Amino acid sequence: MAPHYAVAMARDLTIPSHLLPQDGRFGSGPSRVRDAQLQALMAAQPGVLGTSHRQAPVKDVVGAIREGLAQFYSLPDGYEVILGNGGASSFWDAAAFSLVESRAQHCAFGEFGSKFAAVTASAPFLEPSEIRTAEPGEVAVPEAHEGIDVYAWPHNETSTGAMAPVQRPAGAGDALTVIDGTSAAGGLALDATQADVYYFSPQKSFGSDGGLWFALVSPAAIERIERIAGSGRWIPPTLDLATALENSRQNQTLNTPAVATLVMMNAQIEWLNDNGGMSFATGRTSESARRVYRWADGSPYAETFVTSHSNRSSVVATVDLRHPLDSVEIRSILKANGVVDIDPYRKLGRNQIRVGMFPAVDPDDVSALTGCIDWIVERLVT
Ligand SMILES: *Cc1c(COP(=O)(O)O)cnc(C)c1O
Repeated sequence: MAPHYAVAMARDLTIPSHLLPQDGRFGSGPSRVRDAQLQALMAAQPGVLGTSHRQAPVKDVVGAIREGLAQFYSLPDGYEVILGNGGASSFWDAAAFSLVESRAQHCAFGEFGSKFAAVTASAPFLEPSEIRTAEPGEVAVPEAHEGIDVYAWPHNETSTGAMAPVQRPAGAGDALTVIDGTSAAGGLALDATQADVYYFSPQKSFGSDGGLWFALVSPAAIERIERIAGSGRWIPPTLDLATALENSRQNQTLNTPAVATLVMMNAQIEWLNDNGGMSFATGRTSESARRVYRWADGSPYAETFVTSHSNRSSVVATVDLRHPLDSVEIRSILKANGVVDIDPYRKLGRNQIRVGMFPAVDPDDVSALTGCIDWIVERLVT
């Protein structure tokens, strides 16, 4: 018999409190902020907040972030941590100016990879970009080609929940690998030697606010940045990575940063490093992922969107819901019960949920979330 879908009941469903997650925030960015990060903000008042970013108190926070990231990633000799204003999206513009010498190859398998590809593809001073695509939920991988000097792809495509390996393409020679680690950084394992530039924003695994970008840069990337800066190419100052490099080495930014964002970012890096660093972070995210995919694979009304097991993201899970379940309905019930932000990426247009599983998310909360969905479904489908 076809299941009967009891839509009329939906608005009144109150999930028993013992089934609810401790914290109902599952967004893919901005994401869950831990209470300890707010306590760090309180502790920064008045010593750091409201003081000059050119003086020691704020510069020390920037320095601690740079050192903390170097520790988290066991950065090889010669690699540096740089930062600037504007977030990952601004970094795409900066990369077009300061990293691509003449031609980039992009792997675009979702919204974010495609956006960066569109930036270099339309830059009038560059050769037309080579763009390798894959269907949403799959990944495209780079392939070394003559004349390419930057290979770019996202480590984790936040719009689809597909993660890709970070490995230099064989035969890439002097070309740089430039990886968008925005939703991956802090939650997925990385061998830093495989990337020349690994950039990200603070509002995903680092549980801070948006508006800044950070990048791990290799000696080859530094050499490229300095060479292009000296080549006579016009580069707007806020997008010039040579300027960012110079300022970062002094624990500063070209223009005023969001100091509170830096304080919260630093608190999260300290928490990660104090608890075991990358293995702690990836232990938590992969446990959350194991739980959500096991639930989806075993459920008659859910289906993991990313079919290849090795590409199923440990930080952003995408799960399709089957007819007659309606993601909009399920999400509105959850939202009324304080469980929020599991909306699918809007342009994907699927009957889907998307679950952010950054390190701040306790795996038990992921289990509670899937339990709440099961509870709702039992009452909707009769
Ligand atoms: C969120 C995200 C971005 C955009 O970050 P902003 O800080 O908003 O510019 C870029 N790439 C990926 C993979 C993301 O998840």
